[in-house]
Amino acid sequence: MDAKEDLDVKIGLEVHCHLTSLKTKLFCRCPADYYNKEPNTNICPVCMGLPGSLPVLNEQAVKHALAIALALGSRVSQKMVFYRKNYFYPDLPKNFQISQYDKVGGLPLATGGQIRLKDKVVRIRRIQLEEDPAKIVYEGSISTSPYALVDYNRSGVALVEIVTEPDLTTPKQARQFLQKLRAILEHLGVCNCDLEAALRCDANISVRGGYRVEIKNIGSFKDVEKALSFEVTRQKMLGAKRGMETRHWDDVRGVTISLRVKEEEQDYRYFPEADLPPYIITEDLIAETLAAMPELPDARRDRFIKQYNLPHQAAEILTSHKSLADLFEKSIEKYRSPLRIANWLISDILGYLNRKDLDPSTLKIAPEDIAALARAVDEGLINEQTGRNLLLKAATTGKRIEQKIFAEVSKIGDEATIKALVDRVFKENEKAVKDALKNEKAINYLIGLVMKASGGKTDPHITRSVIVAKLKQLS
Ligand code: ZN
Ligand code: MN
Repeated sequence: MDAKEDLDVKIGLEVHCHLTSLKTKLFCRCPADYYNKEPNTNICPVCMGLPGSLPVLNEQAVKHALAIALALGSRVSQKMVFYRKNYFYPDLPKNFQISQYDKVGGLPLATGGQIRLKDKVVRIRRIQLEEDPAKIVYEGSISTSPYALVDYNRSGVALVEIVTEPDLTTPKQARQFLQKLRAILEHLGVCNCDLEAALRCDANISVRGGYRVEIKNIGSFKDVEKALSFEVTRQKMLGAKRGMETRHWDDVRGVTISLRVKEEEQDYRYFPEADLPPYIITEDLIAETLAAMPELPDARRDRFIKQYNLPHQAAEILTSHKSLADLFEKSIEKYRSPLRIANWLISDILGYLNRKDLDPSTLKIAPEDIAALARAVDEGLINEQTGRNLLLKAATTGKRIEQKIFAEVSKIGDEATIKALVDRVFKENEKAVKDALKNEKAINYLIGLVMKASGGKTDPHITRSVIVAKLKQLS
């Protein structure tokens, strides 16, 4: 059920998305993949901000950012300009971040656009390209750590910042927005959102027209909802402090704590980055990006409804995770049972993943196995419950389902079922029964008939003993 609109609450999000598909950082040739590297080895004079070094724009990053902007229906600037956002912090060796700005002559990559939720349109304010600062590592908690370590490997990787208008009115909507955005980014192939810190979110919230409070350090979509719920309650009870404030989400304690009085925008002394010329975004580049645009989640959802007759809700859930939608389509390519397979993926597989807090992309189940199980159920070889059990087993172990399992689970070893089959065969083959009563060897023929009637699934030993017992009764 969707939470009701809370008209007292205004929530806006600022999402930073790491363009993980790029080979290099935004302004230098250092690899964009900074994961699992010795600290401070993935660096050069440019991303360390050494004097005399000059940034050179990675044009591939512009293309990826442009794809995001176009996917969200934003107005792309004909010319974009980089600005310096000045502040001092250990994670920022130049003392400024090369970013973009939408005021005092600044031209971000794009403005406007929207993301549609089920019953809400969330407007996008702007989309900009900027470099990521370094990573600061604390010992334990930020407030008690005796020192801070800085790892510059991440410094200078390309980020796309997406800022929404404060259109969201409930914490739950904020989470739905992020899920939708993630699905779009996954379909565009520009961001592997599962990687640590690949998708980061700050949330702004004001209650009953009070001052805006910004919450930082929110690690997961679930935490976005939790942190915002906490803030709604806190601000409704106490009112927001006078003046803007930045708060930190402590996910261990489940509370927000005051970090500092929020900087006003003028504190950043934004001015143009003179080392980078304005970048002209040509009509050709836009046309090229639009032509290469993959199918996006909403279009894919509508196609699922039309092409596979799925209920709206099922199509929406499947397409909100690219890997799940891919698994669905690959499975029904092998065996077309869309409703059954959609149902299994949503209730069994996604249910399991949610319980374990795992992402669908971590699944190692083969589409061939999903198809084979669905076929086996449709053909009556195994029952629905067995199919689901095997599916879950394959999903949890990551192992292929061996063919002999189908054979084994499909054996009918249940005596009552076999008795019923034997009764039927006896009724339909009076002559064979008479023969067997006279000649013990003719029993094999009866066994054969029962096996045939069951499609070879009855256990031969039990079948024989049932037949022998029945013949004894008759004689
Ligand atoms: Zn570098
Ligand atoms: Mn930013």
